[in-house]
Amino acid sequence: VYSPFDAVELAAARPDRQVVFAGIGFETTAPAVAAAILDGARRELTNFSVLSLHKTMPAPLRALLDLGETAIDGFILPGHVSVITGSLAFDFLAREYGVGGVVAGFEPADVLAALVRLAAQREPAVAIEYTRAVRPEGNTLAREVMSQVFEPSDAEWRGLGTIPGSGLVLAPAFRQFAAEERFSVDPGPSREPRGCRCGEVLRGLIDPPVCGLFGERCTPEQPIGACMVSSEGACAAYYRYRDIGE
Ligand code: SF4
Repeated sequence: VYSPFDAVELAAARPDRQVVFAGIGFETTAPAVAAAILDGARRELTNFSVLSLHKTMPAPLRALLDLGETAIDGFILPGHVSVITGSLAFDFLAREYGVGGVVAGFEPADVLAALVRLAAQREPAVAIEYTRAVRPEGNTLAREVMSQVFEPSDAEWRGLGTIPGSGLVLAPAFRQFAAEERFSVDPGPSREPRGCRCGEVLRGLIDPPVCGLFGERCTPEQPIGACMVSSEGACAAYYRYRDIGE
């Protein structure tokens, strides 16, 4: 399917089958999944459910700073998440930690412009470079739909462990759509591939080439760890641009 609404349509068209949608992503995708659940509820579907693996964004930044093991001067903040949360959700970085941030878009020029603005800050602040999409207050309607359908839950993060309140599960009024309650499947604990140091990469403790598997056994064509899977992954990006500067 291309969207959670396709899954709702599929369930409506095939009442003899159970349709489970895997809800992944951050505040960027969670509102659409919440809206699909509302649609499923309105249509009284009993064969549609969602396995919510959603996570929310500000909490891991706080966890990273609380660990205090990486010298962080500033953050390039996530553009699409900020479309929903607004930049105000990240104001605590400057206010509580004295660390600035700039919400960036995804074009190379966006990232460069965000870096320039970050480097030019005289006082830590949270600013928006991605002004064509992000407002300080974000999308309040999308957040209302999210908070109607979901509630915060503890969630496990690669390299950071369990962060309280950083995930989303279905709120009690919508628990009948929770796949993990409808089907008794125990996925067991998550495990990293042997030798993968993705957690340390994500915490900024090592650069990807320090991992003994980087570029040899782990490549974008044959990834071993999660950081090499998508083009946005830290190891994949490092691999793609590894020759720059040499
Ligand atoms: S994703 Fe690959 S290169 Fe990156 S830390 Fe894991 S194994 Fe190493």
